[in-house]
This record gives sequence, C-alpha cells and structure tokens, in this order.
Amino acid sequence: MELLKERIIEAGSVVSDQVVKLDAILNHQVDPALIVEMGKEFARRFIESAPTKILTIESSGIPLAFAVANELGVPFVFARRKKSVTMDENTYCERVPSFTKGIVTDIMVSSQYITPSDRVLIIDDIIANGDAARGLIRIVERSGAVLTGVGIAVEKAFQAGGRSIREQGIRTESLVTITSLENGKIHFADC
Ligand code: 5GP
Repeated sequence: MELLKERIIEAGSVVSDQVVKLDAILNHQVDPALIVEMGKEFARRFIESAPTKILTIESSGIPLAFAVANELGVPFVFARRKKSVTMDENTYCERVPSFTKGIVTDIMVSSQYITPSDRVLIIDDIIANGDAARGLIRIVERSGAVLTGVGIAVEKAFQAGGRSIREQGIRTESLVTITSLENGKIHFADC
C-alpha cells in the first residue's frame, strides 16, 4: 500500500536492526485519515471471505480493527491484556510473549463474542515473530469459529512471523513489507 509506505518513510524511524518506531502514525499518536484508508484496503482484500467479526489485540490494533470492521459493517473484538471486573468467567485465555515489552502476557477474549457461527478476520499493526497473531489464532480455533485470514499493516519479513503463519495454510496479507532495518534505514519489499 503506497500511501502507508510513504507515511512510514516520512514519520517512521529505526530503533534497532529489529525494531521500527511508528509512534507518529500507529503506535502512540494515530493518523485517522491513514487508518481509514488502511481499513478500506483490508476490507477490499478480505471482503470475499465474508468475515462476520474482526479480532485484534489491544492497544495498537484497535483503531485499525475499527476501520476494517466499519468498512465491512461487522463488529470488532479486541483481546484484553488485563482482566476486567465486567468480563465473564468464560474467557479464552492465551499466554503470549510481548515483542516490545520483553515479557509474557495473557490475552483474553470472552467466549460470548467469538462463537462457532463466526467467520473471523484477525487484524494487527505489526508482525515480528508472530506470537501475538498465533495467540489470536489459537483463540479462534478454540472458539470453533472459522478463521478467514490474518491482515497485518506492517510485516517485518526478516522475522519469521508472517512466513510461519502462511506455512500453517492461513491466508496472511500485509499492507507493507519491510525487508531490513539495517544501518538505520528502512528497506521495503517491491510489492
Ligand atoms: P510478534 O508477536 O509478532 O513478535 O510482535 C507483534 C507485536 O509486537 C505487535 O502487536 C506490535 O505492536 C509489536 N511489535 C513488533 N515489532 C515491532 C516493531 O518493530 N515496532 C513496534 N513499534 N512494535 C512492534
């Protein structure tokens, strides 16, 4: 997606060979006009798989999932990282390592909101090793819903996450692919 690539060139920076900082558009401040366009692009790519629900993980996935869900006219659900007193007892809980925080966290989704009759599209902001996406995939599997695919805004292709999920036979689409962050420079794949 050319627009996202342009915004990353303008507003992104390299933290290390492994980490890109996108706080100005995705991970701290959010650019709503850009997010709306990203939502349209994900919707265009996945509409034929007829999702009935979008699933993401708090917090950076939320604006994106909102935009996709709004475009497709379906609800979105975000996995919580902390249990709330309002949450039911019946939750799917998965333990996932956090790439940016370097700790292991639990992610939780109430079984009320992902049911066997759902067709679920997973959306997230950035994929590195794929732990967050795999945690969401396990929740969809446990719920009995159909997984229609995984949509990722930014894939770092030099880390194994996107590849390993595709190898599971799951349709995985990235809007932008970063091939390297070496020498302080963001390199993109051609497509
Ligand atoms: P994974 O579970 O695929 O290893 O990491 C995915 C999660 O970690 C995403 O939710 C994303 O927010 C965060 N993340 C992974 N790599 C980066 C990165 O290079 N920059 C930022 N800002 N977040 C990242």
